[in-house]
Amino acid sequence: MSFNKDQNITGLPVLQDNIIWLWVKNKSVVVVDPAIAEPVIHWIKKRDLDLFAIFQTHHHEDHIGGTQKLINEWPDVKVIASEREKKRIPFQNISVKDGDTINVLNKKFKIIEVIGHTNSHISFYSKDFHNPILFIGDTLFSGGCGRIFEGTHEQMFKSLKRISLLPIDTIIYCAHEYTKSNLQWALEISPNDSLIKEKLLEVEQKINSNKLTIPTTLKEEMNINLFLKAKNLKEFSYLRAKKDNWA
Ligand SMILES: [Zn+2]
Repeated sequence: MSFNKDQNITGLPVLQDNIIWLWVKNKSVVVVDPAIAEPVIHWIKKRDLDLFAIFQTHHHEDHIGGTQKLINEWPDVKVIASEREKKRIPFQNISVKDGDTINVLNKKFKIIEVIGHTNSHISFYSKDFHNPILFIGDTLFSGGCGRIFEGTHEQMFKSLKRISLLPIDTIIYCAHEYTKSNLQWALEISPNDSLIKEKLLEVEQKINSNKLTIPTTLKEEMNINLFLKAKNLKEFSYLRAKKDNWA
């Protein structure tokens, strides 16, 4: 899809299924949730670019694992993370909270807190791109949502509701390539859903040609993501429990 190129945002697959997002503007790079450092350093140096900032959505090791090494390589890098995570993301030097707006490489990003996966998970939203963009970490995946480790089901349901109110053409950059198994699960829940069936075929084709299945769009997810489509907390909780127990 061409929107990925238009926005100058590239996904770097690392570890088993993590995707590190790299946004390039002129000679500067912003990296989102660097699980590990080496492929990021290699990618940036090969293109003769500089690391300007790191966005951290939450404290899990597969999101911050590479940050210290990147700081060693680029000591002036801005590390932007939730002010409520100063202990678990100790290297942050710009601390943000829900509703803050930050200016990064002349684009505005709004911080939207999305509690559920952790109790201080944040996302980075910007309207200053061709399409609005959202770096959502482990809160929403294509066809699924994050496991609820620290928050409550109610908090996660509210977080997803907040996301669903963003402009429908928002491009969603999530941190894991889970799309295929999410859709396989969704088809067990809704076996006759033709939109999910179609999407699964499309996703399998992409995987077979070694392409990422993300980013996704809010519009697409409103059609195929059962968690986003859940009408109330009860329905959401039912789905989350089903998914947690799915092989
Ligand atoms: Zn996580």
